[in-house]
Amino acid sequence: MKALVKEKPGPGLSLLEIENPRIENPDDVLFKVEYCAICVGETKAYEWDEWAANDKTFRLPTVLGHEASGIVVDVGSAVKRFKPGDRIVNDPLIYCGYCRTCRSGFTNMCENREIYGKRRGAFAEYAVLPERVICPLPSKLSLEEGAVLENFGIAVHAVEVERRDPGDWAVIIGAGPIGILAAQTLVAWGVNTVITELAEPRLEMARHYANGAIVVDASRENPVEAVLELTHGHGADLVIEMGATQTALDQAFDMVRLCGTVVTIGTFSRPVTFNPFFKMTRREIKLLSVMGRTWETWRRMNQLIEADKVQLRPLISHILPLEEYEKGFDLVKSAGVMKVLLKP
Ligand SMILES: [Zn+2]
Repeated sequence: MKALVKEKPGPGLSLLEIENPRIENPDDVLFKVEYCAICVGETKAYEWDEWAANDKTFRLPTVLGHEASGIVVDVGSAVKRFKPGDRIVNDPLIYCGYCRTCRSGFTNMCENREIYGKRRGAFAEYAVLPERVICPLPSKLSLEEGAVLENFGIAVHAVEVERRDPGDWAVIIGAGPIGILAAQTLVAWGVNTVITELAEPRLEMARHYANGAIVVDASRENPVEAVLELTHGHGADLVIEMGATQTALDQAFDMVRLCGTVVTIGTFSRPVTFNPFFKMTRREIKLLSVMGRTWETWRRMNQLIEADKVQLRPLISHILPLEEYEKGFDLVKSAGVMKVLLKP
């Protein structure tokens, strides 16, 4: 089968002909990959920048790709929930189910976890994963939309990690796909939502698809001042930082209210600095971070999808054949683009 492989450290990827994956364990599910979205982290793996070179979870060579949707082809003898023909998506955090954090419900933080796309992946015609990380694709969604559920899960988890009540104020810094999906979630939950962004194409997406969130053009007005004005000088209860820059983090601390919460999920390329005493301690600010999603997140995602509270399709800006991966990876790095899907 065709597969997009990171063969060795250094820039570049290879489109190779490799052996099809096979069912090896009783709980394996073999599926035909219909779509797999490109993640920003994978552009870093492509270029092999400092971020990727320092990522100890890579085992090269590996097929990349972890945001997939597909159709089940075959299942192992112990698989109970899936049969050939079922439409599925995957959770990319392959957890053990037995460790302390798994048994506490935080399967995303499994002590023995494998991150999909670091040792094996889904930029390929076929893939195999254990049943426990496969989810049925909600009937309301297309297979294309299924490939965006990974991002939707991150968005919902970034919002659910902290208490928020209807009428609270939340700010999202950065109107990429996850930012817009987080805004849709907050709006659905009755939270007053602001989304800030510098790049015009993303601002335009937010104006149309952030489901009524207030959009602040950070290239024209100071986002901190805008948030303070909206909140009568108090600041926001919750700020979700997705800009992954020093400026974005500084803004997050400057626009959060006393005793408020900053959630950071951005993939920072370099270290940032701040003085915890002035930024946090003296104001009792909580700094939280999230990664992936738990099964409780999947339940909430399904509820929001069933209630028609989210719009996933507008966030897919390009669908390309796997052979055009170079174009796809270039597109992901440009500001005008949301999700780029590759079709093997
Ligand atoms: Zn575990």
